[in-house]
Amino acid sequence: MKKLLPTSTAGSLPKPSWLAQPETLWSPWKLQGDELFDGKHDALRVSLQEQKRAGVDIVSDGEQTRQHFVTTFIEHLDGVDFENRKTVKIRDRYDASVPTVVGAVSRPKPVFVKDAEFLRQQTDQPIKWALPGPMTMIDTLYDDHYKSREKLAWEFAKILNQEARELEAAGVDIIQFDEPAFNVFFDDVNDWGIATLEKAIEGLKCETAVHICYGYGIKANTDWKKTLGSEWRQYEEVFPKLQKSNIDIVSLECHNSHVPIELLELIRGKKVMVGAIDVATDKIETPEEVANTLRKALKYVDADKLYPCTNCGMAPLSRRVARGKLNALSAGAEIVRSELSA
Ligand SMILES: [Zn+2]
Repeated sequence: MKKLLPTSTAGSLPKPSWLAQPETLWSPWKLQGDELFDGKHDALRVSLQEQKRAGVDIVSDGEQTRQHFVTTFIEHLDGVDFENRKTVKIRDRYDASVPTVVGAVSRPKPVFVKDAEFLRQQTDQPIKWALPGPMTMIDTLYDDHYKSREKLAWEFAKILNQEARELEAAGVDIIQFDEPAFNVFFDDVNDWGIATLEKAIEGLKCETAVHICYGYGIKANTDWKKTLGSEWRQYEEVFPKLQKSNIDIVSLECHNSHVPIELLELIRGKKVMVGAIDVATDKIETPEEVANTLRKALKYVDADKLYPCTNCGMAPLSRRVARGKLNALSAGAEIVRSELSA
């Protein structure tokens, strides 16, 4: 990427009201069958157009093709029973009814590859595609087969690698793995979490990213954040090992969070997608606020490695707010870009 400070989003963007209930996280589809297939692609076109209009440099499908960032992928796998549900605690934080692993897991056919090919046809800009990471996948399931979080994570890593290789062949420039679980299970991350992530990216020539955030602005997350104290040092636990990993890009929450910005020094050398947009509030950042966050990050991230981004996905926001935030991201990045070239 030659342009300095190329902008992107962490992932999801609002869905049109004819596809799914707006301003609702993980809301069910309003269409079915062929209508749903076409509807997702129409929504992808709209989302892409909004990203382009806002001046986003690295574009995505806005996750218009999935209901949930983890379960939509898992729905396409064998070995998981969606009828047989159990209640588990997600990320040690909130109860959720999740499907059960009942046998060996496998990917009978590609999951998002057709959607990625469709996105590729629509634009010449660099495209990023998000997949769930192995650790976050196992944390969103009840395992009645492997009886080992680590074993199941390795199996998912192999499956993710199959999908990632086909996404790369479809022309995806950056494949991102969402690993919010990396902010919770530090011992597991260091024992096998980063190793399974590296298995998922094995053999890829395209760029790879890991997104580690403090989650959407839902109540369970905001309540949890209140317990974290005035300084959020979670990244400190996993950054040293991540810095030594083969992952190219680390996507992080920075703006309005209590993450001490100097922790970015621990991943010096990696490209960093710096979250400069708070997704847990409807208040639209000013370009100057975005620029301030980027300037702070520039002390610890080389300018050619800094990618302005959002803290997390924006699916639960209104389309007006999301649009305003994308515009602010571009305008803020432009302020700092011109300072750097001055
Ligand atoms: Zn996130």
